[in-house]
Amino acid sequence: MDTTKYIFVTGGVLSSLGKGISCSSIGTLLQHAGLNVSLLKIDPYINVDPGTMSPLEHGEVFVTADGAETDLDIGHYERFLNVNLSRNNNFTTGQIYLSVIDKERKGEYLGKTIQIIPHITDEIKRRIKNVGRDCEVLIVELGGTVGDIEGMPYLEAMRQLKHELGANNVLSIHVTLVPYIRVADELKTKPTQHSVQELRRIGISPQIIIARSEFPLSKDTKEKIALACDVDSHSVISAEDASTIYKCPINFISEGILDPIAKSLYLQELYPDMQEWDLLVKKILSPTKSVQIGFVGKYLTLKESYKSLLEALVHAGANLDTKVEIIFINSEHIESAKLTNLQGILVPGGFGERGIEGKIAAIQYAREHSLPFLGICLGMQLALVEFARNVLNLPDCNSTEFSKRCQNPIVYMIEDFIDTEGNKQIRTHTSPLGGTMRLGEYECYIKADSKLAKIYNHQKVIKERHRHRYEANPKYRGSFEEKGLLVSGECNGLIEAIELDSHPFFIGVQFHPEFTSRLQNPNPVIVEFVKQAQRYK
Ligand code: GLN
Repeated sequence: MDTTKYIFVTGGVLSSLGKGISCSSIGTLLQHAGLNVSLLKIDPYINVDPGTMSPLEHGEVFVTADGAETDLDIGHYERFLNVNLSRNNNFTTGQIYLSVIDKERKGEYLGKTIQIIPHITDEIKRRIKNVGRDCEVLIVELGGTVGDIEGMPYLEAMRQLKHELGANNVLSIHVTLVPYIRVADELKTKPTQHSVQELRRIGISPQIIIARSEFPLSKDTKEKIALACDVDSHSVISAEDASTIYKCPINFISEGILDPIAKSLYLQELYPDMQEWDLLVKKILSPTKSVQIGFVGKYLTLKESYKSLLEALVHAGANLDTKVEIIFINSEHIESAKLTNLQGILVPGGFGERGIEGKIAAIQYAREHSLPFLGICLGMQLALVEFARNVLNLPDCNSTEFSKRCQNPIVYMIEDFIDTEGNKQIRTHTSPLGGTMRLGEYECYIKADSKLAKIYNHQKVIKERHRHRYEANPKYRGSFEEKGLLVSGECNGLIEAIELDSHPFFIGVQFHPEFTSRLQNPNPVIVEFVKQAQRYK
C-alpha cells in the first residue's frame, strides 16, 4: 500500500466503554489479515505523561521498551498485537503544548501569534503522521468523550487530516453506549444520536458505530441508529459485554465489522487468520484445570492498577489450560490463616510504605512453607529484606525507600549506586517528585544452571522492562548466596533476579515480566510460576 490508512476512534456518551479494547481488537483483525498495523493513543489531559499520577487516579502506568511511561491502553495494544510500541505511540496535551511553547521560545514561529489552530493542530497532525509513516494502517484512539473541551483540538486535527489525506484514506469510528433501561425493557439509542450529532457539528461523520451495550442490538435498533446517524445499518456493530476481552476480535468478525472497514478504506477483502487466537480464547473461557494464587497488594478494589500483571496471568492460564483464580490479599491486613489455602503467592511492584510489613510477612510464609513465590520489583526487594531479617538475622534491615537511615540498607537508591560505581549505563529520567527512575528495557545476564536459565530456555541474555528507583545493595550479595539465596540475573553489577536454591519456586525479579506478556506469547517467568503453583498441594 502506498498511502497509510488512518482509523480514528472516538468515544461517545461516557468513558470506560472499552475504546482501547475496540482499537486493539480491530488492530488484531487487520494484522491477522496480513496488514502492518500500528496504534496511537492520544490522552487529552494536561499531564505530560501518567508517570506522576496515582494508580487510583489513572490505573496502571505502562512502560514501553524504550522507557516511556504511558497510558495503560498501550499495554492492551501490545498484548493484542504482540508487538513492541514506543514513546511515539502515546501523547498527551501536555506534550503537545510543551513542544509548541518550546518552539515559540526558540523563535521558530517567526513572530507569529501562536494559536490552537493552526499551531496546536499542526503539532497534533505532525505527531500522528510521524507514527503513520511506518505502517499500512494506523489506528488512532482519542481518549475521553466527544464533547470534552480538552478533546476539541484533536477532533479538529482529525477533521483536517481527512481533508488533507483524502476520504479514501481516513475512517472514523465512534464507540458509544446504548444503555438498557430496565423499567422500559428497552435499549435506548438517543445518547448515541446526540453524541454523533455533536461529532458532525465539529465536521466529523463517523462511518462505523460500535454500540456497547449489555445486550445484543436488534435489527430494528441498528436500523434506527443507522438512520439517525447517517450510516449504513451493516456499519452499526453490536458490542455487548464480552466474557473475556480477548473474545472481542472474534465477536467483531461475527458482527461483520471488516466489510465496512475494507470498503471505507478501499482495502481488499479482509480474511484474518484467527485460528490460534480462537483456541486460546476457548482455553480462557473453559479451561480444564485451576489454581489459586494469592495476590498481595494495596490497591485491592482497583484492578486497573495491576492491569498488565492480571492480564499476564490470564495469558499464562490460557497457555496452560488453567483458570488462574486470583485471591486479593490486602497487604495491610495479613494473617497467616488467609494464606493457608493458596497455591502460590505473588507480590507485585509498588511504591510507598503502606502495607510493606504485610508483604514481608506473606513472603516469609511462602519461603517457610515451600509455597511458590514470585516477587516482582518491590516484591523482589522485599524478599531480600525478609531474608536479611529472618535468615541472616541482621538488625534493622530495610529498603531506604522506607527507612532512610536503617542500619542495613538491603535495598537503596540507584543514584547512590551511580555515584559510587560510576555506572553510566543506567537510563534515568529525573522525576519532578525527586529521584531518578530506571525505566524501560534492559539486558539481564542469566546465571547458567539456575532455575531462571531453565525458565528462559537457557538464553544467556534476556531483555525485560523496568520501572523503579531503588536497587538491591550488592554489599550483601555474598551473605545471601552463602545461605542459598542466589543471584540468578544481573546487569553491570546490578542484581536483576534472585532465587532460593532449596525451594521449589521462590523467585524475585527486579524487572516487570508482565510488561512483555502477550496472549500469544506469554511471559516465561509468569507461566512457570503458575505451573509450579499448580503442582503445590
Ligand atoms: N518502589 C520500588 C522502587 O522504586 C519498587 C518499584 C516497583 O515495584 N515498580 O524501586
